[in-house]
Amino acid sequence: MTEIPFLPYGKHAVDQADIDAVVSVLRSDFLTTGPTIAAFEKSFAEATAAPFATACCNATAGLHLATLALGIGPGDCVIVPSVTFLATANAVRMAGGEVVFADVDPTTGLMGPDHLAAAAARATGPINAVFPVHLAGRLADMPALAAIATGRGWSIVEDACHALGGTYRGPDGSEGNVGACRHSDLSVFSFHPVKTIASGEGGIVTSKNTALRDRLALLRNHDMRRDGDFVNKELAYDAAGQPNPWYYEMRELGYNYRLSDIHAALGLSQLQKLETIADRRRALCALYDEALAPLAPKLRTIPAQPGIDPVLHLYVVHIDFNAIGIDRATFMHRLRAAGIGSQVLYIPVAWQPYYRDQYGDLDLPGAASYYGTSLALPFYNSLKDADVERVVDELTKLVQG
Ligand SMILES: *Cc1c(COP(=O)(O)O)cnc(C)c1O
Repeated sequence: MTEIPFLPYGKHAVDQADIDAVVSVLRSDFLTTGPTIAAFEKSFAEATAAPFATACCNATAGLHLATLALGIGPGDCVIVPSVTFLATANAVRMAGGEVVFADVDPTTGLMGPDHLAAAAARATGPINAVFPVHLAGRLADMPALAAIATGRGWSIVEDACHALGGTYRGPDGSEGNVGACRHSDLSVFSFHPVKTIASGEGGIVTSKNTALRDRLALLRNHDMRRDGDFVNKELAYDAAGQPNPWYYEMRELGYNYRLSDIHAALGLSQLQKLETIADRRRALCALYDEALAPLAPKLRTIPAQPGIDPVLHLYVVHIDFNAIGIDRATFMHRLRAAGIGSQVLYIPVAWQPYYRDQYGDLDLPGAASYYGTSLALPFYNSLKDADVERVVDELTKLVQG
């Protein structure tokens, strides 16, 4: 008997071109701080129509850099949706800020304008920023969120870790890319292997003004300055007023959040394939949507959003486990026994013991509902149509009993 291959809920795809790109960096003079970083940043900015892109070692570091660049510090409140990966909220805490968890839509898991306004009313200090998350690759309503935030002077950082390649229509009908920062100050992307493109570990922060871009670039490298108007005049300049050739200066606390050229080479090579990857992900989503439609209402797919053309990172469905009489753990075990992986993304961050200690038990009915019924199915670039059929067959057996 041939063994059926296991289908995980997500995985990377590395081809020979990717391997060759990495090997060529290994043979070059720069393993880090070399030219591949700038090349990756330039291509990424082009791909997302962002004015600037600053690469860093992972998206958690990118989110932390974003908080620092925006001057978020102790006492500042930042509104974060409660259904997201830990890092979105943790970045605020790393900078000493307070997280105000917003509730989310029970179907999409996205924070909408009403959730944002309700969370703002619960803030116990001055609100500095809001961090919308494009969960699973579905896009938060940026024009609506920005209409609330900018009127009140809040900065906006999009956690776009799931959303590379997505586009949306603004209120004026014009189309925009995720990452272009049309309705935000900064957008953060991850290249963890499970994400849409992989660099091993890696992240990028896109921006639209040089002041923020320059701060991001300095803070990712210890705030180490080798030019400009130095503060320590006697150390910096020689008798003729020329800067000493060895001189560098740090004015605030920075970090080593650099990406290596090895990682950048993989990211850059993967980025060349973004269109193919996006097409495949859109096709897989359409296949699942159609094949799973007959299982409603016990299993519900998530409807497409008007005006939005996403490139999904995760394919999530909602299952009424009470109605089918199988609890979620058993359901997942049975799928696994049939060679099919699935995952629950995410446990509401506000429920983590660390955050419960900080902020107590919050009433987040939308997040609780999303969490209670959601399940991510196998979804990745190399998933085949026949694999989707296998998943659908297995789900049909489980759901229809
Ligand atoms: C993956 C992810 C991150 C963190 O990315 P890393 O590159 O692993 O640090 C942050 N936010 C969301 C929503 C993510 O999915």
